[in-house]
Amino acid sequence: MTPDPNCPFCKKLANVAGWPAGDVVWQFPHSVAVLGQWQYYTGYCVLVAREHATELSQLGPARAAYLDEMSRLAAAIETCFRPLKLNYELLGNQVPHLHWHIFPRSVTDHDRVRPVWFALDEADADPVEQRRLETGTVSRAEAVARLREQLKADGAPGEQGS
Ligand SMILES: [Zn+2]
Repeated sequence: MTPDPNCPFCKKLANVAGWPAGDVVWQFPHSVAVLGQWQYYTGYCVLVAREHATELSQLGPARAAYLDEMSRLAAAIETCFRPLKLNYELLGNQVPHLHWHIFPRSVTDHDRVRPVWFALDEADADPVEQRRLETGTVSRAEAVARLREQLKADGAPGEQGS
């Protein structure tokens, strides 16, 4: 599908500098991996499809490659941060352009049996809680550096972000 001029991800994909400097982990052939805001879930990434599509069924031949890129990114997160469990979420209710949220869940997260969105909703009006959920066990720069190194070592297609 052609880019949608009103879509925030299409706008960012037209100019990857639309993401904050240093947040782009990896530029895959069919998607871009960006470190997410909520680094309490250390290593949390969003993987945005390069093509504007709202459902996987619309991707056609690129679908398998997109899913492979998602799996490669997830594997790198597992290796780098050793989560108890990964949560994979492809929602698109707010931004209907395919993007995976990959949330590593930690054994120290007392709320880990629920999707992260409950905690994020509860933090919506609480700046202290928001700050807590934005703070990881390593700095954002270190999380990005570790993921890039792992993806490179794994021979991921594409190239690291800048
Ligand atoms: Zn889009």
